[in-house]
Amino acid sequence: MALTGMQIYKSLPKTNCKECGLPTCMAFAMQVAAKQRALADCPHISEEGKEALSEASAPPMRLIKIGAEGKQFELGQETVMFRHEEKFHRPSGIAVRIASSLSDQEVQARLDEINSRVFLRVGATLKIAFSAVEIEGCDDPAGRAKLAADKSDVPLILIGKTPGAMKSAVEAVKTQKPLIYKADASNIEDFAEIAASIKTPLAVGGSGIEELADLTRKAKAKGAEDLILSFDSKHMGETIRALTIARRSALKKQFRPLGYPAMVEIDSESLENESISASIFTAKYAGIVLINGMEPWEVLPIMVAIQDVYTDPQVPNTVEAKLYEIGSTDENSPVMFTTNFSLTYFSVEGEVERSRVPSYICVVDTEGLGVLNAYAGDKISAETVVKTLQEQKVSEKVKHRKLIIPGLLPIFRAEIEDTSEWKEVIIGPENAREIPAFLTGLAK
Ligand code: SF4
Repeated sequence: MALTGMQIYKSLPKTNCKECGLPTCMAFAMQVAAKQRALADCPHISEEGKEALSEASAPPMRLIKIGAEGKQFELGQETVMFRHEEKFHRPSGIAVRIASSLSDQEVQARLDEINSRVFLRVGATLKIAFSAVEIEGCDDPAGRAKLAADKSDVPLILIGKTPGAMKSAVEAVKTQKPLIYKADASNIEDFAEIAASIKTPLAVGGSGIEELADLTRKAKAKGAEDLILSFDSKHMGETIRALTIARRSALKKQFRPLGYPAMVEIDSESLENESISASIFTAKYAGIVLINGMEPWEVLPIMVAIQDVYTDPQVPNTVEAKLYEIGSTDENSPVMFTTNFSLTYFSVEGEVERSRVPSYICVVDTEGLGVLNAYAGDKISAETVVKTLQEQKVSEKVKHRKLIIPGLLPIFRAEIEDTSEWKEVIIGPENAREIPAFLTGLAK
């Protein structure tokens, strides 16, 4: 956060010695605030003053990086309470627990599943963010951590309570920079020392906001800088309230002991409830949700919720308006058009791919609106479709003049046929999922 000239002035010697080349300390402070001079240009500022200023200019919520270079997960450094104020910056991640009771073979199978749980949605790759390995209760905590580090494609969270077991596990995989989960009042000193010595992040959990703030102070005093506030999910309303208080304290009050991102460990009797709870907490304000299951039907809704919440509300969710060639198209391939709203385009594209019928998709610029909204908002018409087909030189790609139009816009048919070279307009399906059957039927 930018400091004002007055805030900087308070930490200067106030002697007006002029050695910085300016007549007064106040003039120097104003130039530092305007980023025209560096603090180091004052040779007399004390170490305490430097420390105070660098602390004060730090972002209100710390950026935390988990994992080795190349596969790091970042969370924190958020700036607003509500996404409509600006945007949320770093999408939440799902962590899947791997129980200590599993054999090495079972752990390996579970890690393989985590690695392969990948979805494509609206042009983005969605995947599980962490393998969360319980090391407490393992005969060989270091061996279990090493196995996970060797087989996991994503960063690790090491779950344990005993300092000895945690220390051996973290040291075995220290280059992976795992998240230590978690310190509480019983082990804060030891866990903070482990985190500080290896410079790896530490999750801290308390029984209330006050205790949490007290524990982060203790961890920081031991040298652990990269902290995550950990909450449980036993009482959803209370947890959301605590998450909100922590975030508000950090962002609005600059309260440093709570100036860290948060995570929630989901405790639920069923995978259905786990999925619902995790989705809710990612919206309010969990940077990580720790869950037990990873059925595709459980994790995909959480991923979709995260993707939606972390989409920038100020940027239209669009794809480039151009001609897309899906598969090995030729001069006989079908031609269709759709809008440049990402969700619409990627739904159509996915279903065309599924049909295995190589096709052209002409994307019309509707300012990011879907088919019906674009039509209702006067962002698409038969005229704009014809103009776009011309601009994208679609007729040079195919020898036929058949155009498939969305089933939601049959009204365009007559005008396109009357005013363009596209003399055979075919009304396509209303829903994207009907495209494969439609296209294969057309190809017969
Ligand atoms: S060098 Fe430092 S102490 Fe001297 S006038 Fe400049 S800001 Fe003030």
